[in-house]
Amino acid sequence: MKFGTKAIHAGQEPDPTTGAIMTPIYQTSTYVQEAPAQHKGFAYARGKNPTRVALEKCLAALENAKHGLCFSSGMGAADTIIKLLSPGDEVIATDDLYGGTYRMFTKVFAKYGIVFHFVDMHDMAAVQSKLSPKTKMLWIETPTNPMMKIIDIVAFTQLAKAHHLISVVDNTFASPYLQNPLDLGADIVMHSATKYLGGHSDVVMGTLMTNNDALYEQLAFITNSCGPVPGPQDSFLVLRGVKTLHLRMKAHCENGKAVALFLRNHPKVGKVYWPGFEDHPNHDVAKKQMKDFGGMISFTLKSDSFDDATKLAQALRVFSLAESLGGVESLVGHPASMTHASIPKEERIKTGLVDSLLRLSVGVEDMDDLIDDLSQALNQI
Ligand SMILES: *Cc1c(COP(=O)(O)O)cnc(C)c1O
Repeated sequence: MKFGTKAIHAGQEPDPTTGAIMTPIYQTSTYVQEAPAQHKGFAYARGKNPTRVALEKCLAALENAKHGLCFSSGMGAADTIIKLLSPGDEVIATDDLYGGTYRMFTKVFAKYGIVFHFVDMHDMAAVQSKLSPKTKMLWIETPTNPMMKIIDIVAFTQLAKAHHLISVVDNTFASPYLQNPLDLGADIVMHSATKYLGGHSDVVMGTLMTNNDALYEQLAFITNSCGPVPGPQDSFLVLRGVKTLHLRMKAHCENGKAVALFLRNHPKVGKVYWPGFEDHPNHDVAKKQMKDFGGMISFTLKSDSFDDATKLAQALRVFSLAESLGGVESLVGHPASMTHASIPKEERIKTGLVDSLLRLSVGVEDMDDLIDDLSQALNQI
């Protein structure tokens, strides 16, 4: 089956008792047993819930994976993956990781004796220099937030394989429609399903997929033991959201391209970061591993004024000023005062995250309205 058909049907059958075409919300914590330990595969809902199982199968199908697991948030998925490790184990991760993942690594797991190294993954020599017999896992995101850097997934998974390391790709920004890291050799792919998979900014959820049976057994064991599972209502919302993933992603990509081109030609705009530009430093890699370039764009102002950027963000009417991304509605964020405010200014400027950088999650509204909105807001600064 192809992507759009899987998004609508994978893991889902009409309800056998009523014929209901949509998977019911099985709002139950436990299941009746015919005799002790004799049940229909469901014993207690922390372990398994039919609405969640349908979603896990559907999402696994979208990443061409054998196994999928769902979590109460993207961080719940990341937490479960790190719990594969033991004290003394080391992880090498990209240096511009999602802030919440960085916080969890450095503020929660570092004190359990897991060691994290953050390196620029464009520089394979830098990665090699951090390798030791204690290294157990490599962790990347691509495209990255908010600088839209692209990492070569094949080069990365080959390095992991050569050193018998578990490779993890956070695929939230691309979604399974644009990029399938397991097909490129990754061991585990994870998503914040809060973003493109849910797609409507109405649910917080995480997911991971793998083709490795042994890893799946361990991850499912940790999930059932520690309990970061989503409820059936949220599972239903993501099952519903994902049915239009392919349609939404096409629209996000089309609008993203139009907005990127508009910004690039605007006299008040400085740099525009979008992997679809031929002069993006990793455009060739993006072209090779992604189906299209997505709706995430960052840009700076020629003035590089902090105040101009915050004024612009507030002058937008169709774009809402908010954290998060991947919903049908367009959002704007100012990383220097919002998501990346805790990073010292000198540090963030080194990575290109200057005072005027704005990040757009381009939604699926009518393109002309998005361009008009950006145009009127730019005229106000
Ligand atoms: C949002 C996000 C997460 C965390 O997911 P939550 O659902 O908010 O817990 C992880 N990685 C990336 C890239 C994200 O954008």
